[in-house]
Amino acid sequence: MTGARRTAWAGGVAALVLSSCMSPGAADDEARFARERERLVARDLRGEGIRDERVLAAIGAVKRHEFVPLELRAQAYVDRPLPIGDGQTISQPYVVALMSERLAVRPGDKVLEVGTGSGYQAAVLAQLGCRVFSVEILPELADSARQRLHRLGYDVAVRAGDGYFGWPEEAPFDGIIITAATPQVPEALVGQLREGGRIVLPLGGDDGQRLVVGTRTATGLKLEDVGGVAFVPMTGEVRRK
Ligand code: SAH
Repeated sequence: MTGARRTAWAGGVAALVLSSCMSPGAADDEARFARERERLVARDLRGEGIRDERVLAAIGAVKRHEFVPLELRAQAYVDRPLPIGDGQTISQPYVVALMSERLAVRPGDKVLEVGTGSGYQAAVLAQLGCRVFSVEILPELADSARQRLHRLGYDVAVRAGDGYFGWPEEAPFDGIIITAATPQVPEALVGQLREGGRIVLPLGGDDGQRLVVGTRTATGLKLEDVGGVAFVPMTGEVRRK
């Protein structure tokens, strides 16, 4: 009896020692996340047709697990959108890659984002070498994204406000990306795009959305349809039009 209990106790100590040695520390977590990120890039992005090597490298470098709520970290490198609070979502990595690719930006380009959310898309654009200006309509989200981006070392300017009006003081932009669905392309944003610059956005409403790329020409916008998407709606002024 006693012997059996002692054995069990000794086994308990052994298990305890073992588990404390093997406890997944922060470094282990980072290594695991890095492997998951690599797999995501290979299988869900490259494997699904994303070709731009710079975009693939940027997504391979940005720590998406830092942009999702703690309790969802284990799913950070699954290719799907995740809730980030306030009824909003961080976009699916494939869609972030596709939009970044279609924006066709170069290092040093000045980019406006409408819909900061978690700040992830902004971080990917900053990782691509862009100077990023991002507007978020929900002040709490704008604050947390600004803090997160700065903590992670991304030099992104975040402003709380209605992105419908753009960021006139910083215009013109080489590229504009809207990450919430809008029934029409906001006129003010077209005006803040340089000629030859691109705007990428989910266009549409409850009856369906299309990812669209607009290229600013001398006379207006040349639109190209990329495919079906599902984004949260853009709110604010655009709903009063
Ligand atoms: N780009 C984000 C995902 C955005 S979800 C990311 O990488 O995590 C869409 C975001 O757009 C939400 O945070 C929502 O609050 C914001 N949004 C909706 N309408 C807006 C508007 N008119 N101006 C600025 N932000 C807006």
